[in-house]
Amino acid sequence: MHTVSERFMEKRTDNISRIDRLRADRTLPREQLRLLLTTLSEEEAAYLYKNADEVRKEHYGEDVFLRGLIEFTNYCRNDCLYCGIRRSNKNADRYRLTTEEILDCCDKGYVLGFRTFVLQGGEDLFFTDEKICGLVSEIKKRHPDCAVTLSIGERPRESYEAFFNAGADRYLLRHETINPVHYRQLHPEELTIENRVRCLRDLREIGFQVGCGMMVGSPFQTVDYLMDDLYFMAEFRPHMIGIGPFIPHGDTPFHDRESGTLQDTLHLLSVIRLMNPRVLLPATTALGTIHPLGREMGIQAGANVVMPNLSPTGVRDKYMLYDGKICTGDEAAECRRCMELRMEKIGYHVVAARGDSKV
Ligand code: SF4
Repeated sequence: MHTVSERFMEKRTDNISRIDRLRADRTLPREQLRLLLTTLSEEEAAYLYKNADEVRKEHYGEDVFLRGLIEFTNYCRNDCLYCGIRRSNKNADRYRLTTEEILDCCDKGYVLGFRTFVLQGGEDLFFTDEKICGLVSEIKKRHPDCAVTLSIGERPRESYEAFFNAGADRYLLRHETINPVHYRQLHPEELTIENRVRCLRDLREIGFQVGCGMMVGSPFQTVDYLMDDLYFMAEFRPHMIGIGPFIPHGDTPFHDRESGTLQDTLHLLSVIRLMNPRVLLPATTALGTIHPLGREMGIQAGANVVMPNLSPTGVRDKYMLYDGKICTGDEAAECRRCMELRMEKIGYHVVAARGDSKV
C-alpha cells in the first residue's frame, strides 16, 4: 500500500523534474525557472523544501547559526521608498546607541553564546569611518573568537578597506533588485544599482564575506525581475543571501501596498539553496512577522541562520523598517532562549559558533 506522497512521487510532474534538475545542475534555463516559480502546487512545493533541506544538511547539518543583531542607529541620509527610517519620515523617533551601549550588547551577547555580532544601521555619517573602525577593533579585542558583520550601507572603497583592516569579517548589503528600472522605482534618484554593485564587488575583492539579497513581493516586482536577481546572485556567488517578504510601513509612499507572501518567500529560499548550496541563508525576522512560525518554516525550506535581536529593548521599537516587526519587547536572553526552543522543536540546534560561510 502506497502513501499519498509515494503515489504522488510515482507520478512525476514537470515541476518535480525541474526541481531534480535544479538540484543537480544548480540552475535552470530561464523558461523552466519561470514555470517552476509560477506553477508550483502544494505537493510540489513540499518536494522543493525537502530537497533544499537535504542540500543544506549536506553542507551544514542540523546546525542553525545565531547572529546577534545590534541596531545601533536609525538615522539615515537616504530616502528609500519602502523604508520606515527613510530620512523624510518625520515620525521616526531617531536614536543612536553610544559606544558603551554597543559594547555592552556584545558583552551580554557573548555570555549568551553569540559568536557573531551584526552592527546594523541606516547610512548615518555621524558614525565616521574612524568611529566604526574604533568600534570594530574594540569588539574584536574583547571577543577575538567572534565575527563582526557590518550592515551600514554604501561607502567608498577606502572606507571598506579601513573597516576590514580594523577586523570586520563580513558585510551585508542587500542589492534589493538588480534590474535598473525596478531599482529606480524603489529608490530616489541619487541611488543607483551600479554603485550598489560596485560596493558589493569592492567588498568581495577586499576580502569580506559578503551578503546581498532582496525583498520578496516588493512594489513593481515581476517574476522576470526576481529571476534576474536569482541569476545575478548565482553568478556573484555571495557568502550570504538575505531575503524576506516586503512589508509596508505606514509612513512611506508604499504604505498601502500588499505584503510579499509567506509562500513566495519559502519557494525562493529553497530555490536559492539549490542554486547556492553552501550559502548562509537567514530565516529573517520579516518572515517571522508575516507568520508566527515563519522562521521555522524558513529553516525547513533550506535556511540555516537566525538573527535574534541584541539591541537594548528601549530602542527596539524605533528601528522600524516595516510595520508590525516582532520581538521588540523581549530581552536578549529571552530572544536567545525562544529561538533555541523554536529550533529544537523542529529538530535543529542553534550553535555557539562563528558560523563562517563554506562558499
Ligand atoms: S533602506 Fe537602508 S539606506 Fe534606505 S532609507 Fe532605509 S536604512 Fe536608509
